[in-house]
Parts: sequence; C-alpha cells; structure tokens
Amino acid sequence: MTDGVGAFVISGPTAVGKGTVVTALKARYPNVRVSVSVTTRPPRPGEVDGVHYWFVDDAEFDELIAGGNLLEWAMVHGTHRYGTPRRAVLESLAAGHPTILEIDLQGARQVRRSMPEAYQVFLAPPSWDELVRRLRGRGTEDEEQMATRLRTARQELAAAAEFDKVVPNITVEQAIAELVDLIGL
Ligand code: 5GP
Repeated sequence: MTDGVGAFVISGPTAVGKGTVVTALKARYPNVRVSVSVTTRPPRPGEVDGVHYWFVDDAEFDELIAGGNLLEWAMVHGTHRYGTPRRAVLESLAAGHPTILEIDLQGARQVRRSMPEAYQVFLAPPSWDELVRRLRGRGTEDEEQMATRLRTARQELAAAAEFDKVVPNITVEQAIAELVDLIGL
C-alpha cells in the first residue's frame, strides 16, 4: 500500500497486457491520470494523436530531449523512441492525481534515478507460452517484429526483481484489483 497519491511506474514485457489493464483502471477511477508518451513510432490503426501517444518525427523528438522536456526516454525494440513528457506528469502530481507511467524497462530504470519516490510495478505474464500467445493474438506485428519483441521480453522478464512489486496479469480483473490495492484507490 502507498498513500494513494503519487507516481506509479507500470512496466513489463511486450503484450503482457499493460495497456488493457491501465485503460480499464483509468476508466473505473477517473482520478487516475495516465501519462501520454511521445513516440517516433507511426500510429497503428485506431490510435489517436494526444490520446494513445503524441506522434512526432525524429527531429521533434531530438528537440524534446535537448530541451530537457522528457522525464525519461528510450529506444524500444531497437526501432523507435518513446519518452515521458516531464511537465504533464509534474502537473498531474501537483494536482493530486495518482499518475501512471506505462513505460519499458529502460525507462523504469531512469525513473528510479530521477524520481525515486515513484512506486514501481512489474506486470508479469502467467507463463512464457501465454505471453507468446498474447503477442500472436494481437496480430499487430509481423514475424520479424514479433521475434524482436520476444527477445526484448526475455531480457525484461529477468529484471522483474528490480521492481517494488511484481503483479501477475492472470486476468484483467485480478490485476486491476491488485493495482487498486497498491495505489490505494
Ligand atoms: P507499443 O509500440 O506497443 O505501443 O509500445 C512498445 C513499448 O514501449 C511498450 O513496452 C511500452 O511500455 C513502451 N513505452 C511506451 N511509452 C513509453 C515511454 O514514454 N517511455 C518508455 N521508456 N517506454 C515507453
């Protein structure tokens, strides 16, 4: 349990269901804010600028870094850069909202240094086979992208012990219940 207001990092391997769990949590607890990241990845069908991500090009991302506007950033899966806008997170915290950063392992490590008070949760798959099944089921990646993501996932799973808490995502309901308890909602 935490005091109910603060920053929460939610990390975990690709396709573990971070997005689903965080979206459901936000829908049920309107006081919770989820940081909208900046990315150089092109939008997937249905993704909306400013809602799912802020979609920017490489030059714009460079400017954000140079201006000190990102709380953390990382190259994910060796392809595109993702980062957390600093000001939006600080404003959300100042307004008293529990604020979730859904970011990768590299980002979580940076936040551990730059914002050590943030509580760090690792969302884990019930098993390796289930992770592979979820990634295939999503159908958004081709075989090569999938192989890359699974390689990253293996490394990320090995880092679970670095986190304050490991929450297995067996069902969305069970994972949300554990997060609600941790965040103190
Ligand atoms: P996707 O391309 O599937 O939306 O996201 C790929 C990965 O990027 C996910 O593991 C997600 O957690 C991570 N990610 C999304 N936003 C950020 C961010 O702002 N910073 C970092 N470090 N990783 C992010």
